[in-house]
Amino acid sequence: MSSDHPQPSNFIRQIIDADREANKNNGKVATRFPPEPNGYLHIGHAKSIVLNFGVANDYDGTCNLRFDDTNPHKENIEYVEAIQNDVHWLGYDWQDRLFFASDYFEHLYNFAIELIEKQKAYVCDLGAEEIRTYRGTLTEPGKASPFRERTVEENRQLFEGMRAGEFADGARVLRAKIDMASPNMNLRDPTLYRIRHGIVHHQTGEEWCIYPMYDYTHPISDALEGITHSLCTLEFEDHRPLYDWILDNVSVPCHPQQIEFSRLNLEYTVVSKRKLTELVDQGFVEGWDDPRMPTIAGLRRRGFTPASIREFCYRIGVTKSDNFVEMGVLESAIREDLNENAPRRMAVLHPLKIVIENYPEGQVEDLPAANHPQDESLGTRTVPFAREIYIDENDFREEAPKKFKRLIAGGEVRLRNAYVIRCDDVIKDPHGNIIELRCSYDPDTLGANPEGRKVKGVIHWVSVAHAVPIEVRLYDRLFVHPNPDAAKGEGDYKELLNPDSLRTLTYSFAEPGLATAEIGESYQFEREGYFCLDPVKTADGKAVFNRTVTLRDTWAKLEQQHAG
Ligand code: ATP
Ligand code: MG
Repeated sequence: MSSDHPQPSNFIRQIIDADREANKNNGKVATRFPPEPNGYLHIGHAKSIVLNFGVANDYDGTCNLRFDDTNPHKENIEYVEAIQNDVHWLGYDWQDRLFFASDYFEHLYNFAIELIEKQKAYVCDLGAEEIRTYRGTLTEPGKASPFRERTVEENRQLFEGMRAGEFADGARVLRAKIDMASPNMNLRDPTLYRIRHGIVHHQTGEEWCIYPMYDYTHPISDALEGITHSLCTLEFEDHRPLYDWILDNVSVPCHPQQIEFSRLNLEYTVVSKRKLTELVDQGFVEGWDDPRMPTIAGLRRRGFTPASIREFCYRIGVTKSDNFVEMGVLESAIREDLNENAPRRMAVLHPLKIVIENYPEGQVEDLPAANHPQDESLGTRTVPFAREIYIDENDFREEAPKKFKRLIAGGEVRLRNAYVIRCDDVIKDPHGNIIELRCSYDPDTLGANPEGRKVKGVIHWVSVAHAVPIEVRLYDRLFVHPNPDAAKGEGDYKELLNPDSLRTLTYSFAEPGLATAEIGESYQFEREGYFCLDPVKTADGKAVFNRTVTLRDTWAKLEQQHAG
């Protein structure tokens, strides 16, 4: 289990503190994380996972993983497995408490019979459209269904018939009998069960052709599991009276307390499974784990660490007010982690060849290089130096203003971990493009500048003969608008996708040690950012490195450019 710093308090922890003070639930804390297996988890789910599992850890309680699988036509086993994998990867464990709402189908059915017997539920033959019109509006009360006064016996027979498969989809539903005039629309005789034939449920197969609704299933599942604090997002606030009504009217062993908190919204992306599914299904991204996706799988492939995501969740906190979190908050969490922990390496993204004419042909020196500028515990490695090297083409200008601290024609620069070189000659193709530099090196400059010599600029490099060819993928935000949902209304958010969210560099080179890089390890490519190996190679067998994040926050600057 994760061993992070103590988590900041929040209003939910204060409620729990007060409950324990009053010895409510015998001082016990039991939470659950209840995803619907209809997509992969995203960063919003991480907020809920960190909250639910974090509270359980800190109060010596338990947190269950429960799949809310009552909508089987949108669900599948791939999602069930991916979700478990992601929760574990984030650093949390449900031990032997993996549950499915479908585990309770028989109980749920029996509780429905109990409601029927108490005259608190009835079978209704109105169609979906009629139910909607009968329900009324916010300003007008609803109208009673003509089937509302069916006898207990008739209701029981019809409900048993629904279960037995005697009626077609949509022919009948079971409804709670609450109050058609309630100012809360959720209490105007909500549907509890509907008929769904022809579904092969990933857990229960073809056993059932009636499926319980979320609002009915959730409180009962919570109660059967002995949940004490049922934490959910704000949109369920209006459903709480129904949650309580269900628990007050069936013989469940306890009455959990529902507490709502605000969802996480993150700028320049979307956190809705429906929209993320659409991006995947319609090919706007390469899959659920595309490194541009705000999914846990995407963030992992992008190079985020579990600790950085947990840290992000602590920083944003838990409140009841809706707001948008800046992407910079997420990025600084991973940047701080990698700055501390990622070994340094050299890789040249846009190669420009240099021949060091006074360096002996065939000679190779293995020069020592520190893996971290401050943390010696990360050790050292050697990098091969030879007569032909690549530097980044952006580190050379034929002419440049004084403040350009890199290489210019006739000027000097230090090669990181190696010597000072001087550019003697610039070779161009017939179109005037620079294709190569001729340089000379000063053998007395290894490690330090000789007395009186001022060479300020330091650039990275790799040896041509030893470097490994790599592909590099540079990512930018997925959308060009901070709130793609609101900008153009439902459905149109895809027009706001950023066409430049992925830039691929197919001709880059890394120092030879990166040939044995492993998936899940992160590196700082000096001066270029933090990178990790992608699990999939290119078609021609090249290693691919994803940039997780740049070295510094470039968003603030971009923001100004966009505004200006
Ligand atoms: P989506 O709209 O993406 O489908 P959901 O709420 O329907 O989200 P569930 O699988 O039902 O997805 O969510 C599981 C749990 O995660 C719920 O308790 C839900 O409240 C929480 N959750 C989902 N999205 C967020 C979010 N953006 N911020 C915080 N918690 C979230
Ligand atoms: Mg949901």
